[in-house]
Amino acid sequence: MTKIPYRYYLSEDEIPKQWYNLRADMKEQHAPIINPGTGKPATVVDLEPVFATKLAEQELDNTTRWFDIPDEVYEMYKVYRPSPLIRAYNLEKYLDTPAKIYYKFEGNNTSGSHKLNSAIAQAYYAKDQGLTKLTTETGAGQWGTALSEACSYFGIDLTVFMVKVSYEQKPFRKAIMETFDGKVIASPSDTTQVGRQILAEDPNNSGSLGTAISEAVELAVTTENCRYVLGSVLNQVLLHQSIIGLEAEIAMKNLGVYPDVVIGCAGGGSNLGGLIAPFMREKIVNGKNIDFLAVEPASCPSLTRGKYAYDFCDTGKITPMAKMYTLGSGFKPSANHAGGLRYHGMSPILSKLYDDGLMRATSYTQVPVFEAAKTFAKLETILPAPESAHAIKGAMDEALRCKEAGEEKTILFGLTGTGYFDMTAYAAFNDGTMNDHVPTDAELKPGFDSLPKL
Ligand SMILES: *Cc1c(COP(=O)(O)O)cnc(C)c1O
Repeated sequence: MTKIPYRYYLSEDEIPKQWYNLRADMKEQHAPIINPGTGKPATVVDLEPVFATKLAEQELDNTTRWFDIPDEVYEMYKVYRPSPLIRAYNLEKYLDTPAKIYYKFEGNNTSGSHKLNSAIAQAYYAKDQGLTKLTTETGAGQWGTALSEACSYFGIDLTVFMVKVSYEQKPFRKAIMETFDGKVIASPSDTTQVGRQILAEDPNNSGSLGTAISEAVELAVTTENCRYVLGSVLNQVLLHQSIIGLEAEIAMKNLGVYPDVVIGCAGGGSNLGGLIAPFMREKIVNGKNIDFLAVEPASCPSLTRGKYAYDFCDTGKITPMAKMYTLGSGFKPSANHAGGLRYHGMSPILSKLYDDGLMRATSYTQVPVFEAAKTFAKLETILPAPESAHAIKGAMDEALRCKEAGEEKTILFGLTGTGYFDMTAYAAFNDGTMNDHVPTDAELKPGFDSLPKL
């Protein structure tokens, strides 16, 4: 057998031409999202004021298995895809494990993460519908960056509400977004009703993703020809991100290998949902024995310590309600260093898979995650995003477990992005000043108390 290369790329025409909708193959669907106004399952008509129509349709479509990727989106995908599937030979050697470790690297574009995969799709559908403006939120800045790129490509005006603590800590993220003509506002801001309300109660509020979502939705529904777009959690985003898993599956088949374990970090669940989609289909439809693992930060443990309940997707409680694993939209995460994982809820699709026992979840504190990131960077030459480093840590522990058990498993994990804009966090780690706060049960209580009583 020929040796598996370090980096394996599909050829350009092997890039999948359709996205895969895992819902079409799930035995049971997640509970419907609810329009808080009517208390009934949301319809496309309910969602249209907020989302572009095609995206609202994708959001609610549980039956269409494959969606054609529009030509304009596919052309842009080809500018930065396929992403490589990399065999982590150096990491395997370092861990002295019989396990084979592969990772799918999504950091090979300016935005530095997988988020561009959905940003391009969402900006395209908005333009196709004749919309001229979009609004969104960003935490760490990756989504805002990706969407700025996509909007500038399709000629759409973009306003980004950036969580204030990130806005202050990550001035370079703002600079990239502005380079792509995105307008960046620190959230909570005095430009929206909900922002003014939060500031009146707490002038020093450092912001959260939930609050930034509320502001972005408010601006979208009060502006003509404008819609809101979200970079994670939603079914449509997982659909677009299926490109990650589909490419990985073809690449592994070409190489004559298949994963026994698939691991990813989980913030809102989009990269993990996209990576696992075709492999989960094999588990559900063909009974393949594959283990799935979601890795989250101990400071924001939606799957491992959250409740499976209906909740709002935002702090302002103006978005539809979804049944998901959640810490409550009122949960205030401590300032940990993986901004992209600081969301109170989890994708309804992943929540359902987890609740049905088809996927496991675990959590880590920041210091061991950064230790893994540093080891990985030295061995594999990629400086990982702190979010991605959660998946690295999960994969390393799994490989060590394989070593103890003498198992030659094949591990696939998602390396979602690069960490060049997270050097403050790396500096804190290197100085030994990195701290992390794992919430006590008492600290989780106010979040749970904020869950809507249905
Ligand atoms: C946003 C982000 C994540 C987490 O988001 P998901 O929707 O859970 O995938 C992970 N890694 C990076 C690099 C990100 O930018």
